[in-house]
Amino acid sequence: MGEESLAADQAKPVRKETLNSLAAWDLLEDLPVAVYTCDKDGYITSFNKAAVKLWGKTPEANKDRWYVNWEIFNIDGNPLKPEETPTGKVLKYGKAVKQQEILIKRPNGSLSYILSNPKPLFNENGELTGAANTLIDITEQKNAESKQGMLASIIESSEDAIVSKNLNGIITSWNNAAQRLFGYTEDEIIGKHITVLIPEERHNEEELIISKIRAGERVEHFETIRKTKSGGEIQISLTVSPIKDSHNKVIGASKIIRDIDRQKKNEDRLQQYAERLEILNSIGQVISAELDIQGILQKVTDSTTQLCGAQFGAFFHNLVNEQGESYMLFTLSGAPREAFEKFGMPRNTAVFHPTFSGEGTVRVDDITKDPRYGKNAPHFGMPAGHLPVVSYLAVPVRAKSGEVIGGLFFGHEQPARFTKEHEQLVLAVAAQAAVALDNAKLYEDIKQLNEKKDEFIGLASHELKTPVTSLKGYLQIIARNLSPDDKNKSLANRALEQVGKLTTLISDLLDVTKIQTGKLPFTYADFDMIKLLTDSKEILQQTDPSHQLILNLPVEELIIHADSQRIEQVIINLVTNAIKYSPKADKVIIEAVVSGDKLRVSVQDFGIGIQPDQLERVFSRFYRVENLASHMSGLGIGLYISHEIVSRHQGKLWVESTYGEGSTFYFEIPISID
Ligand code: ADP
Repeated sequence: MGEESLAADQAKPVRKETLNSLAAWDLLEDLPVAVYTCDKDGYITSFNKAAVKLWGKTPEANKDRWYVNWEIFNIDGNPLKPEETPTGKVLKYGKAVKQQEILIKRPNGSLSYILSNPKPLFNENGELTGAANTLIDITEQKNAESKQGMLASIIESSEDAIVSKNLNGIITSWNNAAQRLFGYTEDEIIGKHITVLIPEERHNEEELIISKIRAGERVEHFETIRKTKSGGEIQISLTVSPIKDSHNKVIGASKIIRDIDRQKKNEDRLQQYAERLEILNSIGQVISAELDIQGILQKVTDSTTQLCGAQFGAFFHNLVNEQGESYMLFTLSGAPREAFEKFGMPRNTAVFHPTFSGEGTVRVDDITKDPRYGKNAPHFGMPAGHLPVVSYLAVPVRAKSGEVIGGLFFGHEQPARFTKEHEQLVLAVAAQAAVALDNAKLYEDIKQLNEKKDEFIGLASHELKTPVTSLKGYLQIIARNLSPDDKNKSLANRALEQVGKLTTLISDLLDVTKIQTGKLPFTYADFDMIKLLTDSKEILQQTDPSHQLILNLPVEELIIHADSQRIEQVIINLVTNAIKYSPKADKVIIEAVVSGDKLRVSVQDFGIGIQPDQLERVFSRFYRVENLASHMSGLGIGLYISHEIVSRHQGKLWVESTYGEGSTFYFEIPISID
């Protein structure tokens, strides 16, 4: 129906029944587009079915205006007053409004986009009589548009490269991120084949991907390598999905390409860090437990050479011998010793000098171009047969005092192999190495001192033995020649007693020296252990009546195969200690128990006892529990010798003690040893 004829028909208000009679309205009635007319006050005068559907109700004559029950909004969401709506404007100004988009809201809250197209109606006199309007519901189209707009903006703003291609591999779309990642602009790449992005050796990947896409399948998170415009390679993760037309036919593929280059590099770095940390930790542990200087040097050289990726590494360690002459120990990693032996003293060369003189680290990308290089006679450069060093790294090793005690040197035949990071790693190890070397040196010094002390004790006790033996002999003669009632006789006997103690001390000291040199002699024979215990108890009781010695024996006779003098030495030592370390007690219990083929002897006192942390240490050479040493005499060797004697009898010696209450020392030996 033409615009003019509708305008003519609507010249005067008509009711629907009247309209129905008109052929034109028959046509309009079933049209999918809403059509209505209204009078100049806006009251609906006629309408079709589609209009009723759009309003959601049938308008009532002379009651409902054109907007019926809607709230009307501008397309941007601003509310419109009735006179501001398209029909309102037509009624106000008498001019048609062309295709204005509005948003309507029904009482139930539902929204629709409408394309409104109202025109004025005039009578024969040209006076405005109302308006006629067609309303087209464009909600679906609008939604689709906004969805597409949203998609487009997502694609453009995506951090991931999004690319589509047809089934022949021709690129059909390209977003900003793709441009950033690969370097091609949209104009440059659209229409090109996808293989421009794929390194040659990976072209078969594309065939694989396309065959999956043709079958309608997705390819997810496929990690691979692609090529940028500048020819560089990047690590990416690819997700490819088929694009289908409205008949579900695959017509192309969309690719989301994520740049995992940085992530991969970070992962690699992290792993590298973890590995380095592990190496650093293990170096720390190993070298701090190591007390041998050469061992420390070798471990540090090996690990630092590995850490900085050098082909060869060396550790030169400055040392001074007893005569005050300096000498150098060195270890190598990654190279045979001969490779360095062609060299003079490294300390004196121009290249090595700064490290030893304390100037600090030297790191050079190409040492052959360094001004210090080639200055030294006789080689003026690398001696023939020397390792082909180009990259060079040298790190001084400083002692706590700050003095340079050595240097770590690394080489690689290719230039620029060592980085700042390598330098720092080596410095960290060098610091640990310096501490370990200091400790090893200290240990070495202590060991030497200890050896000197042992030597002295051995010598001194040996020298003492001869005069004391003569002294004892002369005293015995004097005592024998004195008559029993001579008052000097008791003095001579007391002198003899003291000389006896002195002899025991000297022979104990000699025993210690013999144990040290592995020369403590033993003479094994069969003897009655019960008799030995009884006799020892008698003698000890006589010399020391302050404590009652109680002896508990299981049998009357027990023949064992052992060194009787040495076993007696152990018993005397344990009982003497029991008496000495229980000044306030009055008894000591000695007990022998036979169990199977073993004899166990225990010596129990009710004295000062031993603290748990000291229990093991009392058997060490020259060890005395500190708080006692001051007022109880002794050398701290009795238990050490006893322990050695019992061990040599394939037995064991141990102690149980309650601090403040007393101790029980036990020794257990086989009745007959092999
Ligand atoms: P010494 O008795 O000459 O010091 P020993 O080697 O016999 O040397 O003993 C070592 C240390 O063990 C003693 O200094 C003492 O501290 C401790 N000790 C030994 N026997 C006893 C004991 N029966 N009770 C408490 N402490 C003891």
